[in-house]
Amino acid sequence: MCGIIAYTGKQQVMPILLDGLKRLEYRGYDSTGISIVSRKKIKTTKAAGKLNVLESKLQSEITGHCGIGHTRWATHGAPTDDNAHPHTDTDNRIAVVHNGIIENVDALKAMLDPKCEFKSQTDSEVIAHLLATHSGDLMTAVRDTLSLIVGTYGLAVIDQQNPDTIIIARNGSPVIIGVGDNEMLAASDMAALSRYTNQVVHLDDGEIAKLTPNGFDVVTMDSTVAHKEAMTLNNTNANYDRGGHPHYLYREIIDQPDTVKQTLSGRLDERFSTARLGGLNLEARDLIGVKRIIILGCGSAYYAGLAGASMIESLARIPVSAEPAAEFRYRNPVIEQDTLYIVVSQSGETFDTLASLREVRRKGGFVLGIVNSVGSTIAREVDGGIYMHAGPEVSVASTKAYTGMLTAFSLLALLLGRTRDVSPQQGNRIISELKELPDKISQVLAIEPEIAKIASKYKHSQSAFYIGRTNGYPIALEGAQKLKEISYIHAEAYPASELKHGPLALVTDQTPCVVILPNDDLLPKTISSMEEIKARGGPVIALTSAEGAPADRIAKLADHVISVPDANELTLPAIMGVALQLLAYHSAVSLGRDVDQPRNLAKSVTVE
Ligand code: GLU
Repeated sequence: MCGIIAYTGKQQVMPILLDGLKRLEYRGYDSTGISIVSRKKIKTTKAAGKLNVLESKLQSEITGHCGIGHTRWATHGAPTDDNAHPHTDTDNRIAVVHNGIIENVDALKAMLDPKCEFKSQTDSEVIAHLLATHSGDLMTAVRDTLSLIVGTYGLAVIDQQNPDTIIIARNGSPVIIGVGDNEMLAASDMAALSRYTNQVVHLDDGEIAKLTPNGFDVVTMDSTVAHKEAMTLNNTNANYDRGGHPHYLYREIIDQPDTVKQTLSGRLDERFSTARLGGLNLEARDLIGVKRIIILGCGSAYYAGLAGASMIESLARIPVSAEPAAEFRYRNPVIEQDTLYIVVSQSGETFDTLASLREVRRKGGFVLGIVNSVGSTIAREVDGGIYMHAGPEVSVASTKAYTGMLTAFSLLALLLGRTRDVSPQQGNRIISELKELPDKISQVLAIEPEIAKIASKYKHSQSAFYIGRTNGYPIALEGAQKLKEISYIHAEAYPASELKHGPLALVTDQTPCVVILPNDDLLPKTISSMEEIKARGGPVIALTSAEGAPADRIAKLADHVISVPDANELTLPAIMGVALQLLAYHSAVSLGRDVDQPRNLAKSVTVE
């Protein structure tokens, strides 16, 4: 989603801003722009569309050493040149880039001189005009202006009267300072900074910082000085790229045997037949007292949470539920002391997930995080957690982070199970299964050509169904999600038993149905659902780990069979998930879609 980059120092700023914007591209955006203080004047160039449109508009004679840049993901006003950020005041003295949403924009506009001319339909422009009503110290002007704002912001401001100064601020949308050698940067995302520095300072909500080439000062909204130390990030992944593959998405799918290994690394304790998860900050005595677990996430993280709920409930026999984070936070949830809350987010910045975490903690609940991005806001605010260590995920559609979440849940299920009924012997069997997971994912990757053929056959379908029962249902949900988001084919997931209560009316020979058939006790029942689809002429793609006679039966009924290695309930969601990622990927590629940046979507969703 929307991105900010800012630089002040001795280098020419334009290439640094463009490089930063390039590194933010993966988040998804619809327009871009930069402002540079050039010979004491603000020079702004902006354009709807991708970064190359901006580059073609930029005049190389604009030189300078201080500037700000933005990738916009429109919330207020269409993605046009005028609505792109930065926004300036009437006299073009001040330029502002803003991530987030201003909720009281009409009231703020009413405070301005009626002659004040707005050049865009955005909510953000009002900030530039309000700032221009202040003379004197820029930091004070920003603080006074922000005190009027209701809403969320990550902000960067430049002023031609302070040619080497940048003011940044945060409330609900991340901003990170990058500390260089006689140069300072700021960005909404580490990805834009990692080429220049590994020394970073995370701003917290309600903080404002002044950056000059020689350093930074941070204050809170009530002008108290905040003493912040830079932290060193060791693995900044500055050189992460497509690895010679056509898309990030493809790289991220085929990297999964390795990324799952990383999630498991050092966490399997064979001596005590359990998982080692020191970051939870919970002793066995705390774990035994947990009576219920509630998992919160958005999108694929929510679906991973549903799968995680089944894993934990089946091994630890504790009631576990998963819920979309935004629904949870707005329904005034009852927070209980012996309930463990788990928030799940790849970026660690997902707005609704972060808000639900804060709501639970405010009411006294204990919250764990399952997060990929080290040092992210959620990672910093939880009581404990598990890092996925899946490495950067650039493609908007989640793949390796999704399997990282599932793997983290399987470790947690093992740990909680071992504080209850799971015997050491069963614990060891689970550990062996987990160790085999990377190899089983490789076996799925090996059947990619078969999956690609199926994808190509159904690519012109208007609609597809994904069905599964109990453990298979979250797998179906995520499979349908992948197909929707990257191929734009309408896809719906249903519990297999629900089909005859409505959706079966839509099944025709034009609606392929992906049926999830784990080799479990419910297999005969799911095969019956498959019969119901076949009886209505629906083409069936069976995804199964069944072997022997049931596998033969499935092969006879289904139009296509994607056969994956047998596995237990902890590892099957990842194994089948990878097969469904490949199905979606090949459908999308054969339709010529932009698989890394699907339309309308953004990577880390930092607005409500
Ligand atoms: N609300 C602002 C706009 O629509 C900022 C959007 C963003 O975060 O990119 O321009």
